[in-house]
This record gives sequence, C-alpha cells and structure tokens, in this order.
Amino acid sequence: MLQKVVEIKAPSTATATTSASASGKLLTRPELDAYDPRAESWQKQFARRYTHHSELTGVLDGVENVDETVYSKFAVALTPYMAQLMDKSDPACPIRLQYLPSHHEQTKPGFATMLDQLGEEGDTIPGTSIVHRYPRRVLFLVSNTCATLCRFCTRKRMVSQPAGSVHKDEIEASIDYIAGNPLIQDVLLSGGDPLTFTDERLDYILGELRRRAPHVRFLRMGSRMVVQLPTRITPELCAVLEKHRVQMINIHINHPKEITPLLRERVKMIQKAGIMMGLQTVCLKGVNDDVEVMRELFMQSIEMGVRPYYVYSTDMVEGAHHFIVPHHRMIELYEGLRGWISGPAVPTFIVDGLGGLGKLPIIPSYVKEEVLDDGTGTTIKCRNYAGKTVEMPGLGQNYSLPTRSN
Ligand SMILES: *Cc1c(COP(=O)(O)O)cnc(C)c1O
Ligand code: SF4
Repeated sequence: MLQKVVEIKAPSTATATTSASASGKLLTRPELDAYDPRAESWQKQFARRYTHHSELTGVLDGVENVDETVYSKFAVALTPYMAQLMDKSDPACPIRLQYLPSHHEQTKPGFATMLDQLGEEGDTIPGTSIVHRYPRRVLFLVSNTCATLCRFCTRKRMVSQPAGSVHKDEIEASIDYIAGNPLIQDVLLSGGDPLTFTDERLDYILGELRRRAPHVRFLRMGSRMVVQLPTRITPELCAVLEKHRVQMINIHINHPKEITPLLRERVKMIQKAGIMMGLQTVCLKGVNDDVEVMRELFMQSIEMGVRPYYVYSTDMVEGAHHFIVPHHRMIELYEGLRGWISGPAVPTFIVDGLGGLGKLPIIPSYVKEEVLDDGTGTTIKCRNYAGKTVEMPGLGQNYSLPTRSN
C-alpha cells in the first residue's frame, strides 16, 4: 500500500501480494547464500526487497508472525544484502532487531507516543518539504523512502507512508525557498534517503541548489544507503556529489556487525571524492545499549575515517517504545566512552525534545561550580573519566568583564 515515489526509477515496494514474490524475484535461502550484491545494479537489488515477514519463511528461522495491522503503521522492506547480514537463527541478532517487525510495535507503552513527536510539521514551510527550525540552516526532506526500513524510524509519518510522497512541486518550492532566503547557510538533505534518487535527479536538485542559492556555504546529506545497499555508491554518483561540492555525508550505523568489507570499500569511494563523513547512531535497547558494543562501533568508525557525530536517543515515535534506552543509561554509556577511547571517536549524545524543542545534548557533568560553605565565594569541583576528583577554587573567583582603558 505504499505509494511509488515519482523520482525513483527502481520499482518501489507495493503491497505484499504484488511485491517481488509475485514476479519470482525474491531470493531463497540458497540463492541468498550465493548472492553477490556487486553482481547486479542497485535498482535490481531494490526490486528484490522482501516486503512481508511471510516472505522470509525458509530464509530466516524464528521470524515473528506479526499481525497485519503492523503494516498499516509502517511497511517492511529489506534488501537482500541486509538479509545476508542477519543471523539466520538468532532472533536477537542486532540487525534483525532493527529491521524485522515485532509484536512489541502493537503494545501500548506507559507514555504517549505520536507520529510527529519531533513537531517537524509545525516547523515545515507550507508547500515545501523544508523544516526550518534553527537559525541559518534547514533540513530538506527530499525523499520519502529508504532502501530498508528501520522499525524505530523517527519519520514514520512520511517514510513509506501513503500520504507522505514528496512531490516534484514540493521539491521545486523548497529550492525556491532556499534560493530566496539569503540567511540560509547550511542545507541538510535527508528524508527518507536522498540516495534513493537516480544520479540524474540528484544532479538536478544539487545543481539547482548550487546555482540558485550561492549563499549556501555547507551542503550535506544524511543517507543510510551506504549501509543498507552499499553498491548504490558508484563512481558516477560520487562524480555528481563532487561536482556540486557536497561537503559532508552522514551515514547511520548502529552496530559493528553492519560494517562489512563492501561498506568500507564504498565509504572510501565517497571519501576519495573529497567528502567528509560522519556517523549517526540511534541508541537502541538490545542492539547497542552496551559500552563494549559502542566502543567497538566508534573505533571501527574512526578507523575508516568516519567521525562519530551524534548518538540519538530513540524518539517516542509510535511502535518504537521497546527500543527506548532510559536517560540515566545514556549517561552511563557516554561515560563509558569519554576518556576511555580516542577523543575523536566520542560522539555527542542527543535527545530530541518532544514537540519541536530540537536537539538537546546529553552531557554528564565533570566540572561543577559549588558555593563555599564559609560564604567567601565558589569553588570548581572536578571529576575525571575514571572518578578521580580535584577542587579548583581559583576558577570560581568573582569575575567581571575587563573595562577598556582607552
Ligand atoms: C538535526 C537537524 C538539523 C541539523 O542540526 P546540526 O546540529 O547542525 O547537525 C537541522 N534542522 C533540523 C530540523 C534538524 O532536525
Ligand atoms: S534509514 Fe533513517 S529515515 Fe530511513 S527508515 Fe531508517 S531511520 Fe527512517
């Protein structure tokens, strides 16, 4: 029941009954074991996606037989490459948890969830797909689908929802908005996944942005395609990105198991086009709410030259509450990184404030100002990553801005 995105040439997912199974394209287990994702185009792999849990019978063991109502909230889509990475028999496999539907999606949590809990619609410029929340930068939601759908997706309201198709007119209106607003210095293309577009379509959108909005200093993109369908990254795509001076691509990885030789190879291809790369991670119960898993993920990331940028708390989106890691655990995880692994491997932890408050950094306090008991002023109390403490009274002295003498 998903709508085809106009810009995508690859066949989009349809209903379970009209999906690839009907045309005989779905891979059986022996075919999947022998499948080489390099051997066919990314569009063909896109068309081979599994879109219903019943299609995984014989491919994976112990797949949950979820109720059909799960599909009315959020579709299922899984590339053959992603299915290859899943453990055949372990339902707790960190990749299976991210992508296979579960009955937990139907149970009611003890708190309110909603589809647009980030309040993005309130900050969307009418007629466009631009979320303009912060000064000097905008989020440009260009696409409403992804190669593989994550069960905890923050943008379920638009990603593969029938009503959420990003229309060509909206894209044009969005470019108009950026072109007409000289205060916008930074444009972040996201979605869905911008790399679900063809090279030609991306070439057009990026080209128009650069041509009509020369005031934009920083052009960046968020994509999970590199992780879910790495062969989407081709020399031709990189040439388009380089031509329009895309400066940064943030990829989204939640577990070291997602880092494969093929992923590394395609990351390198992007880097060779002179594009800086960042990593975004969602903190997910059962997947990566573990200090060792996070240390390994972020070290592997900087090893390939991808700088960990943000770790997001799972948003309170419908059907994702079973992934939520409590705030105090997020702080413990951060404390398990800072000081213990290379500084550049430590990302900023973020919770997105309900209803449009925006990104709020979760920062444990290492340095605190406290009032001295004798009333003579304040002192600075410090603790390091390993729990050692020291007081620095000199930093707590009264201070006023120096007055100019001339
Ligand atoms: C995350 C986000 C941005 C970019 O934020 P940075 O902290 O600059 O990476 C911009 N707009 C919206 C609406 C966002 O959610
Ligand atoms: S890749 Fe991102 S936008 Fe796409 S389904 Fe996953 S979380 Fe949602």
